[in-house]
Amino acid sequence: MIPFARQLESLGYSGLRALEVGTLQVNLGWRCNQACKHCHLQAGPERLEQMALPTIREVLRVTETGAIPVLDLTGGAPELNPHFEYLVATLRRLGVHVRSRSNLTVLLEPGKEHLPEFFRKHRVELICSLPYYQQEMVDRVRGPGAFFKSLEALRRLNSLGYGQAGSDLELHLMYNPGGAFFPPGQKPLEDLFRRELAQRHEIHFHHLYTLLNMPIGRFQDYLRKSSNYESYMGKLLASFNPATLSGLMCRSLLSVAWDGRLFDCDFHQALDLPLLPGLPQTLEEFDLQALASRPIRLAEHCYGCTAGAGSSCGGSLAGAE
Ligand code: SF4
Ligand code: SF4
Repeated sequence: MIPFARQLESLGYSGLRALEVGTLQVNLGWRCNQACKHCHLQAGPERLEQMALPTIREVLRVTETGAIPVLDLTGGAPELNPHFEYLVATLRRLGVHVRSRSNLTVLLEPGKEHLPEFFRKHRVELICSLPYYQQEMVDRVRGPGAFFKSLEALRRLNSLGYGQAGSDLELHLMYNPGGAFFPPGQKPLEDLFRRELAQRHEIHFHHLYTLLNMPIGRFQDYLRKSSNYESYMGKLLASFNPATLSGLMCRSLLSVAWDGRLFDCDFHQALDLPLLPGLPQTLEEFDLQALASRPIRLAEHCYGCTAGAGSSCGGSLAGAE
């Protein structure tokens, strides 16, 4: 495998730098009500990592300057953090756009049933993971019953106005493949999901984002056990697309771990690959100017973001299709 940095050098890049910190992606903890087979964080009900209140206050401190327009909340299931609602409500009071990633089934957990109304009240943008529009695949990856629970949560959100045509209550779906293959084209897949979910279940959403499975965490375990790791990495390398480099999410996003440490992205966080030495490493050391143009740590799994149409938490990369 050609190291990712060497691949860039051959194109005349001496590394990659961030262009801004337009989004702070905050991981509120690795606890999740699900334990999906592809999870890059190996999240699950037994995980104890959770962002504590002092760290949440640090997130608010670096946000209240107003210099970072978008807060992107993720996990695990971010809704399981006991301070989730306090954080969202405070961020909205500060005028920050809040995007929250939901696995949908968590909205049916005891004590979480009020969250759809809470989201509506605070005009939270939702990105909801739904690996497919058919039961068999979703239950295989996410566990028995996950598909119909996800539909029930989507119906509740739709009934409040989320995902409806013309509504500003944004509801987007996130697709990832159910095996060692790349996502199909984002737009045709969005059209397919839209038609099937509307016709079969009367469910509506705004956009669908595709995310390639990163060769790390549980998905890497699966690749190795099924003897697919080498061929998957080979496909990533062979599909390297330089047109994705300008839109890589690490160039405009900074990731905060549950313990307040800073990373270039959630994938690096999963592998405990911190920011390069010499940069601020924690929320306490936060320095927007230094972070906004920071050199990015490169790793082999970066090929997962640059393959084909490119991949990110916001879907395939603009300009790459
Ligand atoms: S993929 Fe998402 S929903 Fe599934 S275990 Fe990981 S964090 Fe939870
Ligand atoms: S894994 Fe992707 S988002 Fe993370 S640093 Fe590499 S290219 Fe950037």
